[in-house]
Amino acid sequence: MKKILLWTIVAALLSLTRPVYGRELQVVTTFSILEDLVQQVGGERVQVTSLIARGADPHVWEPTPRDARIVAQADLLVANGGGFDDWLLGLVKNAARTDTPLVLASQDLAVLEHDHDHHHHEGDPHFWLSVPNAISYVEQITKALTLLSPDDALYFQERSREYVQGLLELEEWMISELARIPKENRVIVTYHNAFSYLAERYGFDVAEFLVENPEAEPSPRDLARLVDLLKRMNTRALFTEPQLSGGTRYMNALAQEVGGKVYTLYSDSLSADVTSYVELMRYNTRTLVEALE
Ligand SMILES: [Zn+2]
Repeated sequence: MKKILLWTIVAALLSLTRPVYGRELQVVTTFSILEDLVQQVGGERVQVTSLIARGADPHVWEPTPRDARIVAQADLLVANGGGFDDWLLGLVKNAARTDTPLVLASQDLAVLEHDHDHHHHEGDPHFWLSVPNAISYVEQITKALTLLSPDDALYFQERSREYVQGLLELEEWMISELARIPKENRVIVTYHNAFSYLAERYGFDVAEFLVENPEAEPSPRDLARLVDLLKRMNTRALFTEPQLSGGTRYMNALAQEVGGKVYTLYSDSLSADVTSYVELMRYNTRTLVEALE
């Protein structure tokens, strides 16, 4: 009897600590990787919506009136920052609720710039492709959720701690797998400049990506330069990304010319097959090992 009474009290207390009874926090993110990170921390106390659909290319995203409506109803907005999803700021300005908190997940991270003289000097905004950077994102998200709903602080912090623990284990696995790739093969030839944080953290060179931004077309000079480089490499592996159909065309043509092979790395989006950030990093690790070992 005593036990039942105790549980009744606990249940009553728990229901009091919810921010708004029976309603999850509405969190809106710009793209699917942030959606996953927020879901991991927020659990059943958040409802997360990504504006950019899985498999779509964030670089060419045009926000719609539907996006504006979703933003207007959000309790919290989470964007990447670093120039990756600036269009959200315009939507927020036009939304009815201008006081909605906005988190830029990458705000504490230093931008890596590359030094190719034939490209513009813009930093790479794809911070999340290095695990420590993703942990920094998770910390920003945890802080924002806790501020928004202090009564759920313990719940969010506990989930966040467990998830970060999982990310540390993920990275340990990645490092031991990637150790199988010999030093001379550690070049990632990609279509767009997305992998500089991955390269810096895990010991690769990505000097020869084709374009800064996937909206741009590679020049004949870029293509000739890449053919030269590939012909000098042992492993003629090229990496394209599932959301870039235009880029894949160029990469296939290049691979044919040098007798190389095209592989897929995930960068800007989850998909029906790769449904979480952890799966994305595992997929990329396996692909790099298969292509360059
Ligand atoms: Zn990108």
